[in-house]
Amino acid sequence: MSSESSTSTPPFLAPGDRVAVLLPLPLAGAYDYRVGDEALGPGDIVMVPLGRREAIGVVWGRGGGDVAESRLRPVIRKLEAPPLPAASRALVDWVAGYTLAPAGAVLKMCVSVPSALEPARGQAMLRRCAAPPPFKETAARRRVLETAARLPPMAAADLAREAGTGPAVIKGLLEAGALECVEMPRPALFPPPDLSRPAALLSPDQRAAADALVAAVAGGFSVSLVDGVTGSGKTEVYFEALAAALAKGTQVLVLLPEIALSAQWLERFRQRFGVPPAEWHSELGDARRRDTWRAVARGEARVVVGARSALFLPYPRLGLIVVDEEHDQAFKQEEGVCYHARDMAVVRARLGSIPVVLASATPSLESVANVEAGRYRRLHLPDRHAGAVMPEIRAIDLRRHPPPRGRWLSPLLVNALEGALAAGEQGMLYLNRRGYAPLTLCRGCGHRLQCPHCTAWLVEHRSAGRLVCHHCGYHIRLPKKCPHCEAEDSFAACGPGVERIAEEAALLFPAARLAVMTSDTCSGPRAASEFVRAVAGGEIDLLVGTQIVAKGYHFPMLTVVGVVDADLGLEGGDLRAGERTHQLLSQVAGRAGRAERPGRVLLQTWQPEHPVIRALEGGDRDGFMAREAELRRDAAMPPFGRLAAVIVSGPDAGVLDGFAVRMARLAPRGGGIHVLGPAPAPMALLRGRHRRRFLVKAPRGTGLQALLRDWLAAMEPPSGVRVQVDVDPYSFF
Ligand code: ADP
Ligand code: ZN
Repeated sequence: MSSESSTSTPPFLAPGDRVAVLLPLPLAGAYDYRVGDEALGPGDIVMVPLGRREAIGVVWGRGGGDVAESRLRPVIRKLEAPPLPAASRALVDWVAGYTLAPAGAVLKMCVSVPSALEPARGQAMLRRCAAPPPFKETAARRRVLETAARLPPMAAADLAREAGTGPAVIKGLLEAGALECVEMPRPALFPPPDLSRPAALLSPDQRAAADALVAAVAGGFSVSLVDGVTGSGKTEVYFEALAAALAKGTQVLVLLPEIALSAQWLERFRQRFGVPPAEWHSELGDARRRDTWRAVARGEARVVVGARSALFLPYPRLGLIVVDEEHDQAFKQEEGVCYHARDMAVVRARLGSIPVVLASATPSLESVANVEAGRYRRLHLPDRHAGAVMPEIRAIDLRRHPPPRGRWLSPLLVNALEGALAAGEQGMLYLNRRGYAPLTLCRGCGHRLQCPHCTAWLVEHRSAGRLVCHHCGYHIRLPKKCPHCEAEDSFAACGPGVERIAEEAALLFPAARLAVMTSDTCSGPRAASEFVRAVAGGEIDLLVGTQIVAKGYHFPMLTVVGVVDADLGLEGGDLRAGERTHQLLSQVAGRAGRAERPGRVLLQTWQPEHPVIRALEGGDRDGFMAREAELRRDAAMPPFGRLAAVIVSGPDAGVLDGFAVRMARLAPRGGGIHVLGPAPAPMALLRGRHRRRFLVKAPRGTGLQALLRDWLAAMEPPSGVRVQVDVDPYSFF
């Protein structure tokens, strides 16, 4: 059996038995209760007493705790929701064990919508009573009753409209007992995908990859990496795997890094399968969230497309997971439970004995290493679809071709954009920095405007008329006087953000229709899809944006892409800085020339000899990744060694440092384990909390979690101090 089934009979717990119930609260383990009058099975969702209140919990198994029999409290009742499937429960335990998060905190991600656990209420519909008591008849009343007799039950407003009357007539008939109210189930929210619609005609390479995925869908656990250049048709290819999994009657999960920005993806899905998929992301309203959770739990939502948290939905029949843009760091959650959704998707697939497909034009070093080790299978799409050629990528050496004073665009880049606009094509300027300027300083004394709560400069957002901290949201208006030397009107904006680039572009190309695309100007799915429609529809000539413009969009008329600062992101000691910059810039570059007209990409840089820039120019991704892998192997860094970050934070620096020093004394030693720190984090202050970091390095194969658990259990943090563990950290702020 290759896909999960919920038909196996679970061991039942009889009334009076001891039962372990896991509560979706940051508690380490399950609590014991006594089964009430109703037998229970694993995964059943129950209401239990907790102190003086009632709490939701999930039956985790037979109770085995040491609470005295006499002190056990009974389960209050079983809720109507379907039981949490075995694979979801196994995932909770696995993720908790791996990330060191309390199991209850992980469970909370599975039962994130408490209202969905209560019975779904139907719709109140009206129908004619079979034997009404005597009542006064009027022409309008007769019309309503005739209509009600002729048509199926319907809502009051619909009945009034059908009968050509007002709500008062309906109300009167209800009160007279001539109409009655019945509860009807709501229509299915997610109609099943239509599998009879034609697929795209695939190229031979695409066909081979699709066939391999379809074969994988017929088997058990496997990991396939679809490695194809931007525009090679990776989506079309994995749609074939979706179709195969759906034909088997299973559910499918597609993880996208930023679902709110995925309007084009959703539209393509609708084209291919005739219906929209169920979406799961933070922008969903409460009612929609509740209905979607229920539809997934009942197996009605056949395809879910979502952000990382969609992994924790209670699929009873999941048959395939796709992780698109698998290299994207948006899959890493850095707060609360720190987990990587790509890695946990692979775990979920293994636990459920189902296939998982990873797709990317720039696969992560981790996935490439797994291919080389024979753990993942690579399916290669070397060419763009329909003969579109890969864009030409050139560096602009800013030392030789600098922009004029006070400007940011090199004459070479301006020329290229001019050419594209003159030919009726589109241009794009990419800078991964929101706002107008990243730093504001006083010309008189050099004072820099900083956030009082964070180790961060305030970023000027000129269009909004304020300076903002991008970490905590603190904001002020630009002060009239320097708070340090009291000089008036002495502030200067240093460096560019997208707003400043847009200002320069408007000056250079006054006739061009310009748009700025950042999370400030297009927040939310509606704004994003409107933006994308306008660009794809040719209503925009020049697009200026942050990394959100790089998200897999297909803009056929876009031919020139300028990267304003290709060096941004290369500095700093982050072990993935090079890899990440290469991925991001490849993705940005991949927006150019996706249709008939060839594209050009220009990278403005102060270090054209940097390996990342060289690799982009030469199209030598594999060589670059091989060298990166070599460096990581030599340094025994992930994926060739293990890494965990431990961040301690607290409001009082003295208390925090005292604790950190004591922690350092108890740090694990020997066996090739190195604990670095405590060191002030680069963000030594964040939202008013001081932060210190430890980095734990260990050889592959070390039981890192056990080691960390013992270490952290050895001491109790003082009040106000928080300890956050991040296994496989991706950011080091
Ligand atoms: P990728 O995900 O690799 O960047 P896409 O799947 O987005 O590539 O494909 C790029 C464009 O080419 C899309 O507009 C897609 O609809 C089109 N395309 C790809 N393969 C085919 C095909 N076999 N037939 C028709 N259109 C295709
Ligand atoms: Zn701040």
